Amino acid sequence: MSDDYSIGQSELRDAKSDLRGLVWTAAFFSVFVNILMLTGPLFMLQTYDRVLSTKSEPTLLALLAIVAFLFLIMGVLDWSRSRLLTRLGANFQDRLDKRVFQAMLKKSSTDHEVDENTGSGQQLRDLEAMRRFYGSPLFAALFDAPFAPIFLIGLSLFHPYIGMFAFAGGMILILTAVANQYVTKTSSVKSAVASYKSDRYCDQLQNEAETIRSLGMQSNAFAKWAEARKRALEQNVRASDLGGNFSVLSRVFRLFLQSATLGLGAWLVLQGEITPGVMIASSILLGRALAPVETVVNQWGAVQRTKRAWENLASLLSEIPEERSLIDLPRPGARLKVQQITVMPPKSTVSTLKKVSLEIEPGMAVGVIGPSGSGKSTLARAITGLWPLAGGKITLDGAPLHQYDPETLAQYIGYLPQRVTLFDGTVAENIARLAQSFDSARVVAAARKAAAHEMILGLPQGYNTPVHTIGTQLSGGQIQRIALARALFGDPVFLVLDEPNSNLDNEGSMALNEAVVAMKEAGGAVLIMAHRPAAIKECDYLLVLENGLVKAWGPREKIMSEMLSNVRVIRKTVATSAGGGLA
Ligand code: ADP
Repeated sequence: MSDDYSIGQSELRDAKSDLRGLVWTAAFFSVFVNILMLTGPLFMLQTYDRVLSTKSEPTLLALLAIVAFLFLIMGVLDWSRSRLLTRLGANFQDRLDKRVFQAMLKKSSTDHEVDENTGSGQQLRDLEAMRRFYGSPLFAALFDAPFAPIFLIGLSLFHPYIGMFAFAGGMILILTAVANQYVTKTSSVKSAVASYKSDRYCDQLQNEAETIRSLGMQSNAFAKWAEARKRALEQNVRASDLGGNFSVLSRVFRLFLQSATLGLGAWLVLQGEITPGVMIASSILLGRALAPVETVVNQWGAVQRTKRAWENLASLLSEIPEERSLIDLPRPGARLKVQQITVMPPKSTVSTLKKVSLEIEPGMAVGVIGPSGSGKSTLARAITGLWPLAGGKITLDGAPLHQYDPETLAQYIGYLPQRVTLFDGTVAENIARLAQSFDSARVVAAARKAAAHEMILGLPQGYNTPVHTIGTQLSGGQIQRIALARALFGDPVFLVLDEPNSNLDNEGSMALNEAVVAMKEAGGAVLIMAHRPAAIKECDYLLVLENGLVKAWGPREKIMSEMLSNVRVIRKTVATSAGGGLA
């Protein structure tokens, strides 16, 4: 989490200030709700001092009618205010949903280290926490709290002693709130972190249920999860205990304060300073004045959660600034120029590609080979714009990659990642990259190009076969062929295939090669990161990587024969030294 989150803070504040109208309306309603709060105490005052002393039933009835009417208005206003605040929260969330969602995805695609602030959609949950806060009685209490001093002044007008007493009581409640914040802050954070860790671990175990059961890891996995869960539970109990202490203390104290005011009032009545009506009215008014303060003390946990949510969101938005909308460039030709690029994985200080250059022209297929860890996937991620460059330049038909809108670039550069994931939806929806509405003909065209059409028709419900992220019924090879169709959806000019045949059988490999040929014939270009020779069958050029450096680059036959002769030389050297050793 970055420490400086002023940019994100101001973005959140902007979102909030757009809702200023709603806040002012709520504040306006609050004025009347709070004035009408006086209805109860005034009714008491009048009943005691007027009705009881005069024994006048018509006065009582008239008062009751007025009170019923005033309470009705108060109810309507309070109801409207609560609806307004709920909508305020909803608008806030709606306004930021897209921005936070995109920032979250961008962060997760480059930053694989997730923590309690970033994992499993946490930032969207933070936004939800903000929404809940705006719609909660707690936020409404914040509108009411400013009226507490006015009520206290009213009490002082009844009698200065009552005013002073109420003021002292109010201060004690506020001090309780402040002490609450200091004492419970650490434990509530610890409890949230511990719960997050155990939930995340559980999600992970659930997603990998098959592996866990097949390897007989169930008891061990349970023991590890139970440990995390136990820790979360302990922290949770500690935090609840602490918070509970304060809320009980403040509730009991407020109730006592109300009775004590009554006691003080009774004494003042005995002294002939006030009437019994004032005595009762003061006690009720004090209760009303301190109610919002008590709500804030009781719900301090929610205040802290909201504060944390705000800071997390501000930090995310500062780290991932809003993407500028870029001018749509015309559909590029398949001319890709990689010039002296150096790439460091996100949050890493080691370059995994060093000064790599290559040039690809329309109609070309290039194979990238090299041992594991040599930087093949890094190159794929750099070309698709996923990982930023630490040096050098990549251009697609003359324009640097960052000048393309990322969504548009993804249309032009079809990518088949090494680890393929399909999403919940149908096969067709997956090929159409989860578009809400799409042209079926384009889906079928992509599947045909990937030579997957027949295979998909053979599935139980064809293109409408449901796919599930977890526990899908499709085989590894089928998934890879659907993902190839997904990469080809929308007619890309350039195709990046990272280990495309790792799960393919013979038929799948042939289908893949057909797709590469078709792409070349259509004037596109293909880059294939490969382990197996079958994948580079249709490649005209080869790039050999080793430790992030280009070891060789040129026409396939030339590179292959160089490599073969190297192998022969090595074999000969080994044989000679072995022979020499024997002699
Ligand atoms: P290949 O695809 O040739 O197997 P990669 O490009 O995946 O190689 O990896 C190249 C190097 O980059 C490896 O040393 C690997 O450990 C490192 N690497 C890959 N991904 C990351 C990452 N997300 N963070 C840090 N280092 C990474």
